[in-house]
Amino acid sequence: MRAEIIAVGTEILLGQINNTNTTFLAEELAGLGIEVYYQSVVGDNPQRLEEALQLADQRSDLVVLCGGLGPTEDDLTKQVTAKHLGQELVTDKRGYQNLLAFFKKRDRPMTENNRLQALVFKDGESLQNSTGLAIGIFYQSPAGISYLLLPGPPNELKPMFFNEAIPLLQRHFHQDEYLISRVLRFYGIGESELVTKLTDLINGQTNPTLASYAKPNEVTLRLTVSTIDKSQGEQKLDQLEKEILTRVGDYFYGYGENNSLAQVVVDLLKKNQQTVSAAESLTAGSFQATLGSISGVSEVYPGGFVTYSKKTKEQFLELDSEMLKKYGTVSKECAEEMALQTKKLAHSDFALSFTGVAGPDSLEGQSAGTVWIGLASKEGVQSYLYHFAHDRDYVRNSAVMAGLNLLRK
Ligand code: ATP
Ligand code: MG
Repeated sequence: MRAEIIAVGTEILLGQINNTNTTFLAEELAGLGIEVYYQSVVGDNPQRLEEALQLADQRSDLVVLCGGLGPTEDDLTKQVTAKHLGQELVTDKRGYQNLLAFFKKRDRPMTENNRLQALVFKDGESLQNSTGLAIGIFYQSPAGISYLLLPGPPNELKPMFFNEAIPLLQRHFHQDEYLISRVLRFYGIGESELVTKLTDLINGQTNPTLASYAKPNEVTLRLTVSTIDKSQGEQKLDQLEKEILTRVGDYFYGYGENNSLAQVVVDLLKKNQQTVSAAESLTAGSFQATLGSISGVSEVYPGGFVTYSKKTKEQFLELDSEMLKKYGTVSKECAEEMALQTKKLAHSDFALSFTGVAGPDSLEGQSAGTVWIGLASKEGVQSYLYHFAHDRDYVRNSAVMAGLNLLRK
């Protein structure tokens, strides 16, 4: 079994981005017992991609292509490969529904070129994209060569590889081996810091393998072992997990692909039969909307307030206008009063408050990213000061995650 990886993208050739997809794929394929014999990079050029495919056909059994599945003109991997293989491109129903839903949710018309992302080979298998729109493809040619087409963005490629490609590859190439995965989730540590702490584990072994991927404010680590004995595989994962947690256990919050900090918090509150309410200024309801995305949250969340202006802080929460004048709304005093009043008004066990500067402009002389979060409980009230970086969305998302994290403790 000879595999080959072709990364498509002029940015890679120009050195503008690192070819981390190839590194990732090479390592994961090795972990699956699939040997990679060749790696190459081709620009967004149909003729040279065709040449690369011709070469691959002569020397490889599995050809993995990454990049160029998007909707823009330079994204041509699917079209060129389809032509090369004499495959008709047809619309994948699920992929197309996802596209429609995506644009409907954003209330934006879907432009014609977006349809391209739902095109697949007529005789291929579709790989769904849980974090983006471009559908992946797996195809076995009559000559017995397999082709796997994956999207370029690492946060799309990695989940698609794990959730969709591995089961397919296993079905086609590894009948008697099991692949067992475990997902560990972390909050409060950046991906690069986490990876640095685990470098030797990530680079030093191929079975189990260890791969990370990041979302804003979160890092996910996936451990995968290929084994013919399930319990032996689980033991290997236990060992690796133990080693990981001795190094970065402080940031670990839960297991599972579909888990989230909000889910963990809601589960904990349910277990303790406690409730939480909130009053939000800069997050304007995002924290409560995040709670609301967890099913069954009504057991632990009675409701709360959105108090964006000084006036609504006074009106809805009955905050003292003299206090607000004296300390300003972005202050410890305001955060604590907001939390205490919310707890009282909502009759909840906990109440969180969010007040701060989402940016980009500063407010009340405080710089963008300054956030106070108050937490009221039966023990009284505490408040926490944060300085979040990046843009407005990131600051608001960081505040929501920090609030959830306070409830976890
Ligand atoms: P999109 O729908 O975003 O256009 P795509 O499948 O068409 O996705 P590309 O256009 O090739 O993929 O690349 C999109 C982005 O993904 C690049 O700007 C880059 O950030 C990242 N990317 C692409 N190829 C690689 C690679 N080999 N390694 C790491 N990152 C990559
Ligand atoms: Mg693209």
